[in-house]
Amino acid sequence: MLFDSHAHISDRRFDKDRRGLYQQIRDAGMVVVMDVGSDLATSLDVTRTAEENDFCYAVVGCHPHEAKDFDEDQLTLIKGLTTKPKVKAIGEIGLDYHYDFSDRESQRFWFARQVQLAVELGMPLVIHDREAHEDVLGILRENGAFSRDRKARFPARPDGTPDARVLLHCYSGSAQMAEQYVKLGATISIAGPVTFRNARRAREVVETLDLMHLLVETDAPYLAPEPFRGRTNIPPYVEHTARKVAEIKGLAYEEVALQTCRNGCRFFNIEL
Ligand SMILES: [Zn+2]
Repeated sequence: MLFDSHAHISDRRFDKDRRGLYQQIRDAGMVVVMDVGSDLATSLDVTRTAEENDFCYAVVGCHPHEAKDFDEDQLTLIKGLTTKPKVKAIGEIGLDYHYDFSDRESQRFWFARQVQLAVELGMPLVIHDREAHEDVLGILRENGAFSRDRKARFPARPDGTPDARVLLHCYSGSAQMAEQYVKLGATISIAGPVTFRNARRAREVVETLDLMHLLVETDAPYLAPEPFRGRTNIPPYVEHTARKVAEIKGLAYEEVALQTCRNGCRFFNIEL
């Protein structure tokens, strides 16, 4: 039982053998793959992939890399997609000050607008944060992502704490910041780098947080975990990230697989 909280299986890189990929996902016994869009075109793609495959659900939105080409008309079309039953969240949205493929003003503007949209619709948020920790947290807060009203729209988490349905995807920050986020009502998603030899920070994050507040992801086709580092990543490889999480926490792999699956279904409102 495995839940990949973040992948890009509609990516063109998989076009060569799409059926083969879906078969690998089924053979691995995967329960859910969240397929994530990064602009209007890919948001349409992930919506279609989700409609055609029972294991797949869609996340729609504009990635900070594409912010410079985004506009209100496209946002309206993204909003239209959210009415479809297999579209479960707005993402991946956020800020990327590492690559700066879009100017920072556009990044911040469209990030804020999409947070507002998710707050208005009461939908979960999937966040991309690369070297922009302070501004990401600031924009989330200022636009109501952790407001009392938003949290009131979702059931509390199993430990009774409020759930803001904000997912920090491929989390790369400190354990201290992760704790702060969890207190605000966020969830942290752990990706392949936790399996890398120099992953001290990611390991600390896993050690520090309760399993209840963690998800696992591949970010396929990027960031393959060990022992596949450097190769094209596919959702079944999420097993290696889940195994590393189990090892760090001293838990059985099966428990981590099951619990992250439950966490994912709760986060994205998926009933299996
Ligand atoms: Zn991604």
